[in-house]
Amino acid sequence: MKKIFHYRCNDCGEEYSSGIIRYLCPACNANNKADQPPKGVLKTIYSYKSILDNLDGKDCFQYLVENQFLPLLPIQSLESLPKLRVGNTPLYKSFDVNETGESFEVFLKDDSQNPTFSFKDRASAIVSAWARENDIDTIVAASTGNAGSSLAGICASQGQKSMIFVPAKAPIAKLTQIVMYGARIIPVDGTYDQAFDLSVAASEQFGFYNRNTAFNPLTIEGKKTVAFEIYEQLGRKAPDRIFVPVGDGVIISGVYKGFEDLLELEIIQKMPTIVAVQAEGSNNLIRNLDQSRFIAYPSNTIADSISVDIPRNYHMAVKYLKTFKGETISVSDKEIIDASVSLSRSSGIFSEPAAATAYAGYIRFKSTSRLAEGSRNVVLLTGSGLKDLQSVQSRISLPKPVSPELSSLNSLFSI
Ligand SMILES: *Cc1c(COP(=O)(O)O)cnc(C)c1O
Repeated sequence: MKKIFHYRCNDCGEEYSSGIIRYLCPACNANNKADQPPKGVLKTIYSYKSILDNLDGKDCFQYLVENQFLPLLPIQSLESLPKLRVGNTPLYKSFDVNETGESFEVFLKDDSQNPTFSFKDRASAIVSAWARENDIDTIVAASTGNAGSSLAGICASQGQKSMIFVPAKAPIAKLTQIVMYGARIIPVDGTYDQAFDLSVAASEQFGFYNRNTAFNPLTIEGKKTVAFEIYEQLGRKAPDRIFVPVGDGVIISGVYKGFEDLLELEIIQKMPTIVAVQAEGSNNLIRNLDQSRFIAYPSNTIADSISVDIPRNYHMAVKYLKTFKGETISVSDKEIIDASVSLSRSSGIFSEPAAATAYAGYIRFKSTSRLAEGSRNVVLLTGSGLKDLQSVQSRISLPKPVSPELSSLNSLFSI
């Protein structure tokens, strides 16, 4: 039985069938301007009623777990997914206290434990699976580095070809991954936003299938899986707050979409409060939230994965934040690096700056007593610190080597 789902335009509400390649809503896209976030990102809608009708008296979430969430994924078979283990990442619990000494729970969702060491594998896996089911063997993406290294790795595991447009200045570890996984790399002498537009033009010109974030609606569906896992790992309960780092706004929309699916199925009754955390040097989503016209300020932040001038999923993320009363916070590069150091030292999780941004948002909330006693808070750690060693070098000093004799330690450990 072929699964039924369709797409709905986030902006005009027009509906589109699934089964063929879909990107932006053509009606909205016709009016898109290069200096504005694109309208027309498509949301994937399932037949929630037919899921509920299929339960046979079973608990709905139990049924979803047993079917590995396939009823809420835009693919026909779990067999199409990569053999690599994507998602199902650990959620570590600890306790903390706020400024007034009240204790609460904080959980670290470590998505650096994905095959290519970032959250992006969740999206790549679904896009790659869909491509397999539709006999597409080459996938293109533009990326600040992680989406590209992710697509390259996932395609390698699936016997597919990939082509990655990245800013030539992306961190060397991410460029190295792309090449090691055998992708065709196209370094672009420009910003991420320019690489994005170039990859879309190339897809149109040469007929490639494009994985670009938000532009391809399946990226949101892959990213939403983290919400199902958090709910399951918290003992089938939603948390009070989730701190999410935001660049293009697809991860945050994915988190919302996952919980929205659970709301639609009446598995949860209330949306958790989602906190959008951006770098002060690239906070075009937060800064434009209440403006009538979007103005892109040029990005300048150490957190390269969230350094975005025009967030590609701006309209959907803003709509979610407004509908569900989300919260926002911008943190400085200094707070990001401080957070990266303190997270590494207190938990053993070494995060790249974009991921440490979410933790910096959490630290700021904690210090301003905005976390209630007994509350359950989740911080989404989206990428590994090994992907960008350069960014923390200013905080590291390696001592001079000692000569390999016991006497040379006297000066270090004198009694
Ligand atoms: C892509 C990315 C983000 C931001 O995700 P968006 O969907 O662009 O908002 C955050 N952290 C890391 C490590 C990323 O790679």
